Amino acid sequence: MTASKILLLIIDGVGDRPCACLGNKTPLQAASLPNLDRLAREGICGIMDPIAPGIRAGSDTSHLSLLGYPPQKYYTGRGPLEAAGCGIKMEPGMIGFRANYATLDDNGMVIDRRAGRISDTTEISAAIKNGVDLLKYGVKIEFKPGTGHRAALSLKGKGLSPAVSTNDPKKNGVIPHVIVPEDESEAAKFTAEVCNEFVRQSTAILKNHPVNLARKAGGEMPANVVLIRGAGEMGVYEPFEEKHGLSGSVVASAALIAGIGSSVGLERIPVFPTTPLDEQVKIVCSELQKKDFVLFNVKNADEYGHDGKAVEKKEFLEEVDAAILPFLSLSDVMIAVCGDHSTPCSIKDHSADPVPLIIRGDGARIDSVTSYDEISCAAGGMCRILGGSLMPILLDLIDKTHKYGA
Ligand code: ZN
Ligand code: ZN
Repeated sequence: MTASKILLLIIDGVGDRPCACLGNKTPLQAASLPNLDRLAREGICGIMDPIAPGIRAGSDTSHLSLLGYPPQKYYTGRGPLEAAGCGIKMEPGMIGFRANYATLDDNGMVIDRRAGRISDTTEISAAIKNGVDLLKYGVKIEFKPGTGHRAALSLKGKGLSPAVSTNDPKKNGVIPHVIVPEDESEAAKFTAEVCNEFVRQSTAILKNHPVNLARKAGGEMPANVVLIRGAGEMGVYEPFEEKHGLSGSVVASAALIAGIGSSVGLERIPVFPTTPLDEQVKIVCSELQKKDFVLFNVKNADEYGHDGKAVEKKEFLEEVDAAILPFLSLSDVMIAVCGDHSTPCSIKDHSADPVPLIIRGDGARIDSVTSYDEISCAAGGMCRILGGSLMPILLDLIDKTHKYGA
């Protein structure tokens, strides 16, 4: 028997280094993970360099690599992927930006880059989308809310360039920057002008918007300016189904990852950071009934790594372990468990340390590894592979590859 479907579970930032507060164990080593350990016992393990040894992968470039889209060829910046993840239909050539709402005081100074952690920007985002008019430049905009204070902007039109700076001053107590071209081209100059006009018009719309008047009246910070950054031109992605011969979905509460999935042609199944993990697992299981492939990204381990919180990271990994129990009884599914990069608590950032990998399903070999962590998996039968090899290996295990030669 050979499994015919693939579940790719990516625990964001799972890998780590020895943590003093965990007796020099990694959070994975210190955690009690009966379900992941069982997958390791029933499958074949290894470690993986998401892009290449020594390369500190971002979540975006890593996910592209793991899905079989070499980032060196496909990656055009975070903005367009984030925009796709917020639900904007990004077409090749469109310029995408990450955006966030912030608060300006009466003198135009940024006083809170998260607008008092505003939680729902649906109404003001719609007001911006409907109210900002850039047609005199021949440019159409899309603007969609993300989670919390986040949002995304796209520009569509002729003569646009991603080579523009940000208006985000990245700190409080200063006025937002004027957006400037980052190269000598006419397109960059034109795009910077368009962006500044977007900021002018959106700020005017936000100034006396009822949502902001109500926030002020209630003593909350108004969301009265949009800061945009991460400009990138939407690339051309060969559809996942054509490339790999598999229909697929992406289940990811992070807009960036959902956007990567939908950019390569996976169906984006909306889940949110507030969606309980076991709920997300149920959604994944039901997607696997309908599709050949599901990418499931679990957030938060990465955040704990960035915050240097080793104990919390360990406890979160235990929560993930408990939530994935239903995956153990999936039949006909080749399950791959890995991270997109390591986020060691000791450095509070991504590192190039390879991530531990399990592949388990009918047809896959079974090695002698019995626990899921960086060190145990390094002794596994998969040895050390590149992220770009993951899809070919999984496709081979479900009999979807063709013979090379006679
Ligand atoms: Zn990541
Ligand atoms: Zn990270």
